[in-house]
Amino acid sequence: MTQQCRAIVADASGGPEVLGLREVPVPTPGPGQLLFQVAAVGVNFIETYQRDGTYTVLFPFTPGSEAAGTVVAVGEGVEDFAVGDHIATAEGRGCYAEYAIVDQDKALPVPSAVPLDIAAALPLQAMTAHYLMNSTYHVEPGQTVLLHAGAGGVGLLLTQMLKERGARVITTVSTDEKEELSRVAGADEVLRYSGFAAAVRELTDGVGVDVAYDGVGKDTFDGSLASLRTRGMLVLFGGASGQVPPLDLQRLNTGGSLFVTRPTLGSYLLNPQERRWRATEVFNAVAEGRLTARIGARFPLAEAGAAHSALQGRKTTGKVILVP
Ligand code: NDP
Repeated sequence: MTQQCRAIVADASGGPEVLGLREVPVPTPGPGQLLFQVAAVGVNFIETYQRDGTYTVLFPFTPGSEAAGTVVAVGEGVEDFAVGDHIATAEGRGCYAEYAIVDQDKALPVPSAVPLDIAAALPLQAMTAHYLMNSTYHVEPGQTVLLHAGAGGVGLLLTQMLKERGARVITTVSTDEKEELSRVAGADEVLRYSGFAAAVRELTDGVGVDVAYDGVGKDTFDGSLASLRTRGMLVLFGGASGQVPPLDLQRLNTGGSLFVTRPTLGSYLLNPQERRWRATEVFNAVAEGRLTARIGARFPLAEAGAAHSALQGRKTTGKVILVP
């Protein structure tokens, strides 16, 4: 008889209530794949876009690409991993479940110094922070960076990594509690959203920032563009407040030869070498105590909908995880 396990399944797009807990068959690893028992699932904003129809997915749908756990079976041809190994991934499938599948080339070995719940909090957001500051725009020591949602999952990790690089970091947050967290992560200046572009100009003696990292989107895009120095770059990497409407390219001219890019993690994990480089750097930084992943909230797997509501309702700080 096929073994059963619990998983979150949505039959159609909609609000957080479409995420229901079901019994489903434990998946079987195909050639080159690993089956792992999920210890913790990383919840990410993209799953809210997939759930509510902003991004297209096939239903019935089990969300979740980020998780950590223990390998329990390997498919044909798997040589790099064995049963009992601790792994994490940012590119799994259907990870809102007790068991999930990942291709071996997308599995990341977890160092023994890193607990599995922390390992689940890292791959997607920390590798995002890594590519944003190393590859989309290579931040140099002494440069000034604007980073929105400074107390969020990506925000806290990217702030620490930018400070280790020697950059000056200006963040935005919505509450006093988030301001405190952003400061502890190393932010030099922490602003509220209202009037942030004028405040950034003042803080930079009228010059503007070298790069603005904007994962908030609709509500902040115009201010981010207005915060750049001549030839500065706006990196629009998400839309927590909604998607940005079409842009008149002439604004890049009048703003001072500006750059805008809209990156996504998949384009920065193009091959096993690139994936291994980013993963090794972030896991080593955690193992050596140079980078701290803050788990702001843990929800039981069955409460995935509540986790989405908390994330979309701006109630979370750092990482949100689900525990099967
Ligand atoms: P966060 O933990 O940062 O949560 C989102 C934060 O955005 C909130 O906590 C809130 O912080 C802020 N925010 C501002 N306005 C709103 C609003 N109207 N509704 C909800 N939140 C708002 O999430 P993540 O770290 O998981 O992701 C941050 C962004 O990065 C997302 O847009 C996500 O899609 C994107 N992302 C992109 C990737 C890529 O490769 N392109 C990869 C990973 C994430 P506050 O209350 O302080 O304003």
